[in-house]
Formats: sequence, structure tokens, C-alpha cells
Amino acid sequence: MVATTAHTTGSKPTNSGLAKYAVTQNQSQGRKFSEPSCQTRTEYQRDRDRIIHSTAFRRLEYKTQVFINHEGDLYRTRLTHSIEVAQIARSISRALHLNEDLTEAIALAHDLGHTAFGHAGQDALHKCMKDYGGFEHNLQSLRVVDFLEEKYPDFDGLNLMFETREGILKHCSVKNARDMGNIGQRFIDRTQPSLEAQLTNIADEIAYNNHDVDDGLRSGLITIQQLLQVGLFDRHYFEVNSRFPDLPEKRKAQETIRRIINQLVCDLIDNTLKNIENNNICDIQDVRSSRSTIVSFSPDLKKQMAELKTFLNANLYQHEQVNKMSANAQKVISNLFTNFYSNPELLPDEHRSKALARKKINGNDGFARVIADYIAGMTDRYAQIEYGRIN
Ligand code: MG
Repeated sequence: MVATTAHTTGSKPTNSGLAKYAVTQNQSQGRKFSEPSCQTRTEYQRDRDRIIHSTAFRRLEYKTQVFINHEGDLYRTRLTHSIEVAQIARSISRALHLNEDLTEAIALAHDLGHTAFGHAGQDALHKCMKDYGGFEHNLQSLRVVDFLEEKYPDFDGLNLMFETREGILKHCSVKNARDMGNIGQRFIDRTQPSLEAQLTNIADEIAYNNHDVDDGLRSGLITIQQLLQVGLFDRHYFEVNSRFPDLPEKRKAQETIRRIINQLVCDLIDNTLKNIENNNICDIQDVRSSRSTIVSFSPDLKKQMAELKTFLNANLYQHEQVNKMSANAQKVISNLFTNFYSNPELLPDEHRSKALARKKINGNDGFARVIADYIAGMTDRYAQIEYGRIN
């Protein structure tokens, strides 16, 4: 997570040694508000640092990934998830000679817009917002860095580089894209984002699938026996078990997961290099105009990953105990929204005056959006405290 390249004052930091299809700051579409460059850091290092110092980033520590905070100290939170994504993404980025600073910035910011209580929280807020433009955590992550952080005297948000913002906005409907200017254009033109953005998206998948296996085992909600139905797990476990038959099961599982991550990362790097060659990718323009994404697993491993995902869906994410938490999330989030919407006097002063001001400009959509921004920013325990305060 720390800067990897030391630059001395006086010599301008650059992105030297990068592949010709990497993002470089010289070809960047830059920041919305122009700022003097930094003597010691690349523009993407600055983005990463702005993200680390943001309020939204610190809140990730108390937001649920799959298991609620108070269920145990060792489960992943949104913060540790984001750090694991950054680690995997940076390794892949460096191996491909891509822009590691940009990759790290995207990875650390990718979940800033997530609500409390994991996916259940996001689904609940989306339901509440269905008549007011909906709620999508990707778009919300971009709202956080574009508008919601209040740190700089000259602008709202963090004023990040275009390519960092592009990487944060992984998905977007064409309808929403039309209102978003140049950052939404690729969803209308059906072009691709940078390789750094593409690989971070897949590093996210590698991270959560593997750490959810680990957390799932730790919680006892899934077992090694069950996981042996999954080809990818079974094969690596078999090798580990043959080589270290006397190792405690817990350590066998750890070693299995470590080997799976390694295989996924190596396959992704090899297959992406093949795609780069087969598609004659020579520069960032070739990346963007390519018909499909260039960073991908080999077809065989893609299938194996799909099998693992299906397993986790059926056995962990839909587990009775996880569903119980989801029901509570639903209750808390929709209660907060309904109450704040019908009684704005329940909102803290700052949010009430913002909501009423937005209402004058954008009507109920604007009013509801400010409430959604407030709720989306809450940590698990703050949401629970607010629920207690207003009920
Ligand atoms: Mg994520």
C-alpha cells in the first residue's frame, strides 16, 4: 500500500519503464480542475494518497464485506478487502508493466460507495431509491470521489485523474451514462477502459472469491468437504494433502487458497499477454477501441472460477445465517430511508439543509439522493445507532 518508487526532489516523477499500452500521465485526460503538478509524486500516486486520506476510505473499516463486524475480529471488512484487491492488482499490473500507481488508486477506491451491511445494504437502498434514479454502489463510489468528499478549498470531491475515475466506474447503464459527460461516454460507445481498470476489476473477483472461501471456512458455514465439489479447490487441496498429509486442516486450507490465488494470477497474466499479441495491442487507443476486454482468464480457468462462484452463491451468500443478516440490513436501511424521507427534521442539520436545497433544484429525486448519500456513507454500527435514535 505504500509508494514503491522513491523520487528525489528536483527530478520530476514519471511513469518510466511502462509498456507502450499502459496509461501514462502525459497522455492522460487529466483532472476536472487543473492543479499544479507535484514535485515528488506521479499524478496517480497523488490520487492514491487522496483516496487513503479520505473519510470514505476510513469508513470502510466498519463496513461489512460478507460477515458483520461484530461476528468476529478476523473476518474481512470492506477495508481489508480493498487492501487485498490492491495487493493482487498491483502484482498483476507490475508483471504486465502497466501503471502500478494508477492500479493501486483504482483498487483502493473501488468500494468507497458501498453501503453498510454488504450487498444486502446496497440492494435495500436501491429498492428505496427505485423511483428516484436507483442506487448503484459503483456510481456511488464515483460520487464519493467527484462530489461527496469535502476536503479541498477549491472544489468538491477529490478531483482525481480521469483514468482513476474511469476505473472506479466499472458499470453504468446507458441511461445514466448520458448524464455523465466524458466519463460515461465509453458505455455509450461500447469501448473499453484502460488495462489497469480491466485488471483491477478481475483482481477484485480473485480477492473476494478466495477470501470468502477463507472466511466461510473460519465461520464454519462451509466446510472443506463441501468445497471438494469445486474442481479448482479440489485439485489444489489434493496436491497439498498429498504433500503435507499431517498438516492441520486449517493450514491445508490456507495453502490451498494461496495456490489457487497464484494459479489465477499467473493464468490471468499469461492469457492477457496472449490477448495483447493476438489483438495487436500497441497503445492505449488500441486498448480502448478493442471489441472486448483484453485482460481475461483462459477459457478453462474462467469456467473453473464460475464453478467456484456458483458454489459460494449457493452455500455461503444464501446461507441461512447470512440471510438473517440480510433481513436485518433490509429492515434498518429501508426504515432509515422512509423515516428521513417523510420526516426530514430527523436528519442531522447539515444533511437536512442539503436535502432541502437539492429539492428546490431537482425536486424529490434530488431530495432522495441526499438522503441516499447520507445512508450510503454510514458504517454498520452508525446505521444501527441512527436506527435506534429515530425509532
Ligand atoms: Mg470489491
